[in-house]
Amino acid sequence: MDHDVRRRAVTARLDELGVDALLISRLLHTRYLTGFTGSNGQVLIRRDGALFLTDGRYTEQSRREVADIERHTYTNPLREELPGMLSGVGRLGFEADEMTVAARDRFAEALGDDVEMVPTTDVVEPLRAVKDDDERAAIRQAQAITDAAFTAILERFAVGVTEQQIARQLEMAMRDEGADALAFDSIVAFGENAAEPHHEPTHRSLAEGDIIKLDFGALSAGYHADMTRTVAFGSPPTELRAIHEVVRESQRAGIDAVKAGVTGAAVDQVSRDVIERAGYGDAFVHSLGHGVGLEIHEAPSLGRKQDDPLPAGAVVTVEPGIYLAGVGGVRIEDMVEVTGDGCVVVGTSPRELIEL
Ligand code: ZN
Ligand code: ZN
Repeated sequence: MDHDVRRRAVTARLDELGVDALLISRLLHTRYLTGFTGSNGQVLIRRDGALFLTDGRYTEQSRREVADIERHTYTNPLREELPGMLSGVGRLGFEADEMTVAARDRFAEALGDDVEMVPTTDVVEPLRAVKDDDERAAIRQAQAITDAAFTAILERFAVGVTEQQIARQLEMAMRDEGADALAFDSIVAFGENAAEPHHEPTHRSLAEGDIIKLDFGALSAGYHADMTRTVAFGSPPTELRAIHEVVRESQRAGIDAVKAGVTGAAVDQVSRDVIERAGYGDAFVHSLGHGVGLEIHEAPSLGRKQDDPLPAGAVVTVEPGIYLAGVGGVRIEDMVEVTGDGCVVVGTSPRELIEL
């Protein structure tokens, strides 16, 4: 994993940000820029090289994980040792989305009048939106685990099994397949519960004719997978069968529209048009998709207000849905890798309506 390339991309922005150095304090960004997986670490990005910072618990771990740059273990609060690392720095950038106002005030007091603290936003995030080969491989691995768990769980549905039991079995299946953890709490919704886009699994038990909505994913090497499938237990109500077909067509249209340079809003609209034409526009109550990577929701998004062009190398979900209160709902979700001439679907699970 070439963390040096990522750090150089941040360093290249120091001028434009109007700072002499940048303190990365968001743990996820420290991981992205160094490979460090512990619970406390920062990176000071300076023109003459990056400096990794942590406390005594992680001296050994960081020696192994962050072997390629200078490291410093602090024994006092970081703000007290930081001035000694800032020779020649008059303006120090910090991540405004991460640091609290109280922390900023404490840092400012410790740094005194010689160093001005400069808030920055969206420095690392746009880099994270474009995945490199290693990141794509990690996401594919997380999705392969998720696909395998989906195949395994299809065997577990029976009259009387509850949403919570299926959620637990999904977790076991993903862990058995090699997941480090769940990417997020699984959504398992039977029958009318599928009308809730997000649904916390309950003791509701499965009955003949229920629709089953499963939204789940594995975490592997820090990277997330995210997939939704809606299947039927027995023969579903006619309207839900028809809705499944609409959502499938909507998703297909969305996937066909994804391409580098197209805006997230444009893709959302293509997918939404299919649902609106079928008369269910009001029942598609969320945006079409989101980026996935070190976080389950990250840039770029597919939604009505997303006017930035999608970059090649982004990984986004395409997940249209139709939700009918009291009846049920259908969502189909896949992650795709954005390319110059289209996109590649990451997963392999079938999308047609499976009737168990
Ligand atoms: Zn999902
Ligand atoms: Zn999603």
